[in-house]
Amino acid sequence: MIPILQLDIAGNPSSWITYRSAISMEAADRIIANLGDEEFTFHGGYNRLSGQHSEVTISSIILTKEKVAGNRLAKNYSPVVTNKGLFKRDANMCLYCGEIFSSRYLTRDHIIPKSRLGDESWTNSATACKDCNSKKANRTPEEWGHFLLAVPFAPNWAEYLYLKNSHRIIGDQQRFLKMRFPKNSQLL
Ligand SMILES: [Zn+2]
Repeated sequence: MIPILQLDIAGNPSSWITYRSAISMEAADRIIANLGDEEFTFHGGYNRLSGQHSEVTISSIILTKEKVAGNRLAKNYSPVVTNKGLFKRDANMCLYCGEIFSSRYLTRDHIIPKSRLGDESWTNSATACKDCNSKKANRTPEEWGHFLLAVPFAPNWAEYLYLKNSHRIIGDQQRFLKMRFPKNSQLL
């Protein structure tokens, strides 16, 4: 079952939720509209009074009564770095040797090492294979003599949601998120 893209009351993408959560939201009258192209109908319990089975239709994108999270919309807002999101941003490629690895062989490299006051930002984080990360050790790329194969960027919220589920999301969800990517997005 694909994840459902939840929008806040102003139509901004908010989060991925399961269809079960979406059904609960529908039951609690928290869904304003179904905006996705893809619709799923679920058969719920049997209503003893009416003698009918209840039916709920949820679409791939739902507009809900959730309040707007203003901070997420700020230009300089950047979500917390997770390894999963980072590896997806870099398409599972070690930014030092250029090889593609499955996630369990990858690590998060702090480009400027933390011990040298490098921060936890997306722009200071690079996907690195275990080998390269241990060879680089406590050095900057310049000191090690290996340069990054891509410029590390900080995703905005829409890009972040996209990275979170890029392998599972469907056409309309993808289109919806891409419209909210920055113009120079490296994911386009
Ligand atoms: Zn490597």
